[in-house]
Amino acid sequence: TLPRLPIFEAIAKHDPHSTVVVHSGSGRRFTYGELLKDVADAKDRLHKEAGTTSMDGQRIAFLVENGYDYVVTLLSILGTHSIALPLSPAFPVHELQYIMDQSQASMLLSSSKFETKALDVLKSGLEGKPKLLQVEKKLGGALHTKVSLEGPSDGKGGMMLYTSGTTNRPKGVLLPESVMTAQSKSLQTAWNYSPSDHLLHVLPLHHIHGTINAIMTPLFSGSSIEFLFPFNVKAVWERLAAPFLPGSENKEPVTFFTVVPTVYNRLLSTHDDLSPELQAATKKAISPANMRLNISGSAALPTPTKQAWSTLSDGNVLLERYGMTEVGMALSCGLSYSDRVDGSVGWPLPSVQARLVDTETGEVILPGEEINAAGQERDGEIQLRGPTIFKEYWRNPEATRKEFVEGEDGQGRWFKTGDVAVRRNVPSAGHSSQDWAHGWMYFIRGRKSADIIKTGGEKVSALEVERELLSLPQIAEAAVVAVPSGKWGQKVGVVLILKPGVPKWSPMDMRRALRDRLANYKIPQIMRIVDDIPKNAMGKINKKQLVKEVFVEDF
Ligand code: ATP
Ligand code: MG
Repeated sequence: TLPRLPIFEAIAKHDPHSTVVVHSGSGRRFTYGELLKDVADAKDRLHKEAGTTSMDGQRIAFLVENGYDYVVTLLSILGTHSIALPLSPAFPVHELQYIMDQSQASMLLSSSKFETKALDVLKSGLEGKPKLLQVEKKLGGALHTKVSLEGPSDGKGGMMLYTSGTTNRPKGVLLPESVMTAQSKSLQTAWNYSPSDHLLHVLPLHHIHGTINAIMTPLFSGSSIEFLFPFNVKAVWERLAAPFLPGSENKEPVTFFTVVPTVYNRLLSTHDDLSPELQAATKKAISPANMRLNISGSAALPTPTKQAWSTLSDGNVLLERYGMTEVGMALSCGLSYSDRVDGSVGWPLPSVQARLVDTETGEVILPGEEINAAGQERDGEIQLRGPTIFKEYWRNPEATRKEFVEGEDGQGRWFKTGDVAVRRNVPSAGHSSQDWAHGWMYFIRGRKSADIIKTGGEKVSALEVERELLSLPQIAEAAVVAVPSGKWGQKVGVVLILKPGVPKWSPMDMRRALRDRLANYKIPQIMRIVDDIPKNAMGKINKKQLVKEVFVEDF
């Protein structure tokens, strides 16, 4: 048996013979029917190993490779009403120890492949004294012949994810099962997941995008998920192309593919290296007729990347969304191409309430008040509330207190995202493909703590300057940062990587190139060209660290 959680009820309603997971490469397939039985088995095994059927709220960590076992493990933990804590096999041992210790996990489930690493993690004395357990799909199929849903429809279960650690040490975010369900339902409605969707997932799974967008929402919707792992650009192109190559056995087109901007860039920059047959087949694969949805998020999508993807695919427009560990997906562009305005992350998703709050005065910027008396756009912190928002940071009541603010209307507290945006009423109306996708659109200006630069009394958005730099033909990567300055408070600094073949580029070249695009005070006053900009596992830049490393002599 499994508890009557919404996710299990949804899975039980899908055609048991339809595919739920495919392993790219080996081609192994698993059905919804198998999944339910294997989850019920794994749940029983967890109870047995724990020596109790009341595991409510315990943190159960797992180190499992992307694929079917991952999905079974995640769901079986939910089935015991405990908290699933996905770990990344790519993390170094000390990072895993930090998370295991901070979360006080009582079990560590590991696939045989990661057993050595798991044993290393457990070598240090961890607070929760976790027990190690191997997960592997038992050969010969499931023990259960039929699974029934019994017991409560909610409970103390859920998921705990650690933030990417871009601005500080990763924080444990507690997402109760009800929040996971609300996030999935909101996405299901907005992006219209269905049994005819076949997702290709190539990113790590231990983040909100992996767990909610790529596992839970497809499972709610009866879609199938194909895992291609480890990530490899050529393998991704080959997989997308397969159904469109003459004589190929693989007849299953990918309809839904989501990656981060840097991966779109890598795909774009390697397309020319493919054979002519592969080039033709990949173009077909990503054309609007075959690819239903290409999504980008986690970091700002450069407009040239969006344009290049559209050109290559004969008109497929990338959909940009904004989300974070604490809230799942919060803002998104819409399904119709005209609802994907350049530079915008769209509108609040169904059941998400969003507002902008002036970071200096603390005033809520009401719809219609986006322009001040001087005719300038007002920016503000994005604050969110609703059933999709997390409840607390694990063992960090201070951070929880700091990041929430009580609503004046008594309708609940708002979460302060730390991200700053402006809202624009984009004139080319027509934004009505779905009922949530209309009105003022959000445009992200960056993190309050690192991207909003105050120079000589003016505010500069690092993201806006980066956007302009990236649209220049010489620039491959750009990170705009605040450099402390006695005279200006902060100076706008920039760290650049030039495109291959560009021999040199001077501050003067930069000034000339940006003169007609940006106000004078926004043009970086100090510039460094480097070969590499360090990023964390999610491809994000810690700007505070970068500025110290690159502009060290300016301190
Ligand atoms: P930490 O909170 O530990 O410093 P993090 O904020 O990078 O790390 P995540 O929750 O993985 O951890 O990332 C969420 C952040 O990513 C958002 O707060 C926002 O700054 C950024 N982000 C997400 N989507 C977009 C987007 N489409 N455009 C710009 N920024 C985005
Ligand atoms: Mg964060």
